[in-house]
Amino acid sequence: MDNNKKYIYFDHSATTPVLPEIAEIVGKCFLKFYGNASEPHTPGQQARELLDSSRLAIANALGAKPREIVFTSGGTESDNLAILGTAEAYQKKGNHIITSEIEHPAVLMPLRYLSRKGFRITRVGVDKYGMVDPDDIRKAVTDDTILVSIMHANNIVGTIQPIPEIGKFLKERQILFHTDAVQSFCSIDTQVDDLNVDLLSISGHKFYAPKGIGALYVRKGTKIIPRLLGGGHEHGMRSSTENVPGIAGLAKAVQIGQKDIKEKFKNISTLRNYIKDSLLEKIEDISFNGHPSERLAGNCNFSFKYIEGEAIVLRLDREGIAVSSGSACSSSSMKPSHTLTAMGLSAEEAHGSLRVTLGFENTKKEADHFLEVLPKIISDLRKISPLYNK
Ligand code: PLP
Repeated sequence: MDNNKKYIYFDHSATTPVLPEIAEIVGKCFLKFYGNASEPHTPGQQARELLDSSRLAIANALGAKPREIVFTSGGTESDNLAILGTAEAYQKKGNHIITSEIEHPAVLMPLRYLSRKGFRITRVGVDKYGMVDPDDIRKAVTDDTILVSIMHANNIVGTIQPIPEIGKFLKERQILFHTDAVQSFCSIDTQVDDLNVDLLSISGHKFYAPKGIGALYVRKGTKIIPRLLGGGHEHGMRSSTENVPGIAGLAKAVQIGQKDIKEKFKNISTLRNYIKDSLLEKIEDISFNGHPSERLAGNCNFSFKYIEGEAIVLRLDREGIAVSSGSACSSSSMKPSHTLTAMGLSAEEAHGSLRVTLGFENTKKEADHFLEVLPKIISDLRKISPLYNK
């Protein structure tokens, strides 16, 4: 492995590179803000001040109050805390939870665990674009429903769900609503009052902050039974000495990410459409997965007939281009993506899929190189595919 090789990085949904200015702040915090934010002495209070200002920055980006932000270790912990924490807190009220077929395992696995503990879980399906129908949620709700968890934008095809509409209905019914905004935060608007959500998960490494830091928004008045018990940090919802350098990095990433968000969305989607249109023109037996317009700016997801996405990923890697054949978690299991099969793709079509996810630092020059290299790889792989006989 050549660690000095310059990669074309098109896998931003898996993780983003840490921006130098964010790495600089995090590094500085390790050295200068080493105090324990719970201690009354000066180093502790310096860390506390930084923690408080970072919390305010994240709360502002969500249109929330600082007390409604709980720092966690990332998206998985935020999702687990939202689901397991409210399920336990509200179990006397009911035992029914609704979710969708296309959620991330960080949502599906705690729900599977709850189903073994006696909760009833309803998983609503999606249409061919990976979109949840709000009517399906309305129909699934019963008097026992205590929580609905629907992701804001999907990690495989980027489809943006009708969260405000679902949330409006759930608010009227006084049912808690959680959204996993790990893929959408700092890409599209995530004001909690516009989305009508009570709980919202974010993860730093999806918007240029380090891995291992995230947050859960918990609307005032929402009860959560903590998963980590200890010194009572994070308003008693998540004990453990705060990761001040990571949190300061998260706040800086939010500040950068929220700046010119609409303009960045436009620029990234222009590059995305250029890649999409060029590939659909250059390559035969290819299809574009996900919603034509209601999708994250940087997401392209294709299916190539007769070949495996995994083989394309490895060949592109040899050419210095990083893409994905699914989410990082499902890539290692070699199972077809559950999002794609829920959208009605066959296992073969799902196995032949490739996810290309762009960031604001990607250029047309990089796209052009990718467009030059990929058709040749597809043609080479098809020549050796037993399924291809043209
Ligand atoms: N939710 C979604 C939609 C994701 O894409 C991911 C990561 O890929 C997660 C949750 C988990 O986040 P983390 O890696 O920060 O635990």
